[in-house]
Amino acid sequence: RAKQDGRNNCAFYTESLNQESVAKLKLQSALHDAIELNALYLVYQPKISFVTGDVVGFEALLRWDDPAFGAVSPAVFIPLAEKIGLIQDIGRWVLKRACEQGQRWREQGVNFGRIAVNVAGQQIQRSSFVDEVAETLKQTGLPASCLELEVTESYMMSEPELVSQDLAKLGLMGVELSIDDFGTGYSSLSYLKKLPIHKLKIDQSFIAGLPLDTHNTAIAKAIIAMGHALNLKVVAEGVETQAQADFLKDNLCDHAQGYFYSKPKLVEELTDFLHKAPRN
Ligand code: C2E
Ligand code: MG
Ligand code: MG
Ligand code: MG
Repeated sequence: RAKQDGRNNCAFYTESLNQESVAKLKLQSALHDAIELNALYLVYQPKISFVTGDVVGFEALLRWDDPAFGAVSPAVFIPLAEKIGLIQDIGRWVLKRACEQGQRWREQGVNFGRIAVNVAGQQIQRSSFVDEVAETLKQTGLPASCLELEVTESYMMSEPELVSQDLAKLGLMGVELSIDDFGTGYSSLSYLKKLPIHKLKIDQSFIAGLPLDTHNTAIAKAIIAMGHALNLKVVAEGVETQAQADFLKDNLCDHAQGYFYSKPKLVEELTDFLHKAPRN
């Protein structure tokens, strides 16, 4: 309509803005429904040791298949959930489900290493977060030594003093802590040594160009070297090719995760990775 009416280009923008906010509202209400109807579910992606080739853990990733919108990416609905105040409910649900799954694997004698759960900034900033984690572990029976929490850099840095105290408590319980998407936030490297963390996950944008992209090879090598110097394990995410895996292994990266090994899958589809072996 705006095109026909050349004098008033504003109409075009207003209309598309409205359409956008209507779409957003629809998405919001669909997300509310999805939570009520239990339409969210978890898939799991294995993490592999470069040294032994064994599975060292599984990352739980949230999925939402909406009847109207189709598969909505968590990269879209997690930020939305944060904005509209649904992240606490979703976060608690994910943590509980993932811990239940870990405990089920334990009962089945499956050697799964650790279950890793992504934690949103608003979750970790809540004063009750540590208690919630402790409570969930107690309820589900999963030992803290089977849980890992992944937090992105920017969240860690938002209130480093507060967050760091909470992370330290979690660490003392035996929970491992990873910085997710490392290299994409504002890394103040001085916080890195203060934060009680165990792992750095190199962001997949740096893995993508390996081994040909000279910038990415330099960055990946530097993160691995720095991580090791700080006594941290370094994980590469988004490994898609043999060449990337070879490069990372040659450069002593510790763990790998990516489509080269496995896409995130439903528990029933993970049988190749679920080995029953004695834990030690
Ligand atoms: P993330 O935690 O960094 O997870 C890695 C993302 O990369 C996942 O996308 C995963 O499916 C994808 N991925 C894994 N391997 C490859 C690969 O080889 N190539 C490519 N191109 N991608 C790969 P996904 O599942 O869409 O999740 C996107 C983001 O949404 C996650 O990034 C995480 O930040 C967030 N997220 C997912 N589930 C949850 C959740 O339960 N809670 C919170 N707070 N955030 C979540
Ligand atoms: Mg993650
Ligand atoms: Mg990541
Ligand atoms: Mg990410």
